[in-house]
Amino acid sequence: MFSTMPILAITALLGLPIVEEGKPRAALAPLDAKAPAEVRRAAGEFQRVLEKMTGTKLPAEIQGDAPIVHIGRDAFVDRAGLQLDRLDEDGFVIHTVDNKHLILAGRTPHATEFAVYRFLQKHAGVRWYFPTELGEVVPKRATFSVGELAEREEPSFHSRLWSSAAPFDGGAWERQNLCRGRYSFHHNLLYVFPPSKLFDAHPDWYPEIDGKRRRPTDDNDHHWQPCCANAEAARYAAEAARKYFDANPEASSFSLGMNDTSASGFCECAECRKLDPTDPAQQKTPRGLPNYSNRFFTFVNRVAEALAKSHPDKYLGCLAYNVTEPPPAFDVHPRVVPYLTAGRANWTDPAIREGDQKLIRQWCAKVPVVGIYDYYYGAGFISPRIFTGLTEESLKFAHQQGVRAFYAEIYSTWSLDGPKAYVASQLLWNVDQKAEALVDEFCRDLFGQAAEPMRRYFRFLEDRWLARPSGSMVMWAGFFDIAQLDLWPPETCRKARSILEEAKKAAAGDEPVVRERVRLYSDGFRQTELWSAVYHGEKSLDSVDAIEGYIAAKTELARLQKDVVQSNPLHIAPIAFEDRAGNLPGASLGKAILRLADRPEAEAVLKRLADPSQPAEVALAARTALFLRKHPEKTTERLANPGIEPEPGKPAEGNLPPGWGTWFRPETPGEAKWTTTAARTGTRGLSIRGAVAGCALQTIPVEPGQRFVGSVYVRGVFRPEAEVSVVVQWQEKSGKWLTAAARPSDRLPEGGSREWTRLCVLAEAPKEAGRLLFTVSAYGQGPDEAVEIDDASLLELPAEDAAAVPVQ
Ligand SMILES: [Zn+2]
Repeated sequence: MFSTMPILAITALLGLPIVEEGKPRAALAPLDAKAPAEVRRAAGEFQRVLEKMTGTKLPAEIQGDAPIVHIGRDAFVDRAGLQLDRLDEDGFVIHTVDNKHLILAGRTPHATEFAVYRFLQKHAGVRWYFPTELGEVVPKRATFSVGELAEREEPSFHSRLWSSAAPFDGGAWERQNLCRGRYSFHHNLLYVFPPSKLFDAHPDWYPEIDGKRRRPTDDNDHHWQPCCANAEAARYAAEAARKYFDANPEASSFSLGMNDTSASGFCECAECRKLDPTDPAQQKTPRGLPNYSNRFFTFVNRVAEALAKSHPDKYLGCLAYNVTEPPPAFDVHPRVVPYLTAGRANWTDPAIREGDQKLIRQWCAKVPVVGIYDYYYGAGFISPRIFTGLTEESLKFAHQQGVRAFYAEIYSTWSLDGPKAYVASQLLWNVDQKAEALVDEFCRDLFGQAAEPMRRYFRFLEDRWLARPSGSMVMWAGFFDIAQLDLWPPETCRKARSILEEAKKAAAGDEPVVRERVRLYSDGFRQTELWSAVYHGEKSLDSVDAIEGYIAAKTELARLQKDVVQSNPLHIAPIAFEDRAGNLPGASLGKAILRLADRPEAEAVLKRLADPSQPAEVALAARTALFLRKHPEKTTERLANPGIEPEPGKPAEGNLPPGWGTWFRPETPGEAKWTTTAARTGTRGLSIRGAVAGCALQTIPVEPGQRFVGSVYVRGVFRPEAEVSVVVQWQEKSGKWLTAAARPSDRLPEGGSREWTRLCVLAEAPKEAGRLLFTVSAYGQGPDEAVEIDDASLLELPAEDAAAVPVQ
């Protein structure tokens, strides 16, 4: 160890000193008054980071014969013969001249910024692992010098663009990690052909649908595509591109991205249909959609040929996705840049991987520049979704085939996404790196003494993603879907938590910044744990303990979101999960509380839950349950024959119990049986077997504002797609359905139950209601599947309602 000291000193002597013993040795070359904003920002960042590293600020004016750092192109740099103009537009040099000048300069101003960041990364060990100062790593040192340098760098992927990696930092993190988009390819045809301007004069540029040219609803309507066979429309699009380039001479590309619609917005005219494949094997895309690639790329080729006459060096970007995913049967103009859309995180599934790779190969054989469009979310996931190994694999594969452009929707939730964006960004610049090594570095630099457990933590998360089942997966599996937590049951969360606890312990003696970083990921994962507790907890709210645990997790989740998540942009998903996800947990709680009404041991918990500090629906359900226990005499049973029994003294005949009706969807199978085997109590119950859609029902006259507790016991085991539930629906007195009114319901858990299970609903008659339909329904039953039904009830609560019941 001690022997390295003299060597370092010699290197410093021989090299170019920048800071020595905390004193500046070099100076920045003064910037030209007309220096572009990017270059000014780069110089400012260079000074800022150097100061953070060494404690001293470099002067920005020449100091005698002190070494000079040139940021961007100045007269000296242009005389140095570095041939910057031969570089890619994102390329740069990191170069020393005579141990006196350090040049950090790109061909373009933004490439100069990249030169500065890359220099700091490679030669000073600086990293920007995630946005904000917490993710910035600047190794401290009093002396900083560099040896002789002659580096030229160009990116592996020309275009490296994230959609909303960090909406809160003005793009700083992306610049620090050398990310920048180059090609335009997004949905754009609706803006190329604004219907308000063009439809009246050129209806035949718009899609023929059901024999008529369709006028889009307005200029922002995405649900249409132009008539691709119309050569005039293509000429017009080329003119639009030409105008755009004349107004924006710096732009390298114009987008012909199709509008964001499915097959339905495409033209049905005879000329368009003539362009589609005649071979039945080619009429569908690999993902089973209609194949409109021939017609779409006929249009794109026409635009490209027309544009090339005046602007041969410009590109036309577009989307090869959905119905235009496979390449067309003919050549595509070489200035067309198609972006292939797919979620390569799904390469866990060999069939998906193979299909995606085939498309990439086919497209790379068609055109010189191909882009890939990926989905790295981020938002939509409340559980970690890390796939750095697949990132490496897919980027290396794509690059090898010739792909040179990348775009991904990411909308990061940084505290869950860990090294995901960092690893991908680094590989996009230089694809010859290993994801493993990048994650190792991430953990080593960020977590100090906790590096080892944190490395294990991220490996554990990635292994969970890789453990997803193959076969049934689609690109969007888990996206804004609470069922993503099937990968994260409580016992799995506990394993991850125990690793985080180790990390916390290991970091205890380390610097505050290290502890704060461990806390960031620990708090991030706390969201997953609590969502998991809520999601999995709701599946079995069958005991007082389970209900209390569920409510505690829900309360804690709300507190975490308010006190921790909302105060830190690194925790905030750019699109809130609750805003977009369906089937959120919570619907079962009120019913589970109502079910406690007949459990003697539930008195104490019901009283706690009835407190006004609880969420309104919880308190109401608890008060109602308490009321049912205390004052059964004040309720009125409104069902006829709730026990599904024969009338006293009359024989049980037929398949319909007195008071009950049944309904089955016309012309579909399904039968009802009034039978002794379906009895839970008494002598008889009702069974519904093999129903595609069927129910047992009663219709009861009601007044608006009346409140009811409905319940029924059911049992039966089903395939997962079958559904058994009790539903309360409403009609006006006339029998007209109140379709907009809430329909309280409760359903049997997926797969059903061998045991009798009580389903409960709390219902309040809406304003226009005249009739209540109490239905016990079955959907999607197999031919041999039956639900047994017994002991139903519809209690009308008195007007002096449960809310008035004293709870103490
Ligand atoms: Zn057409």
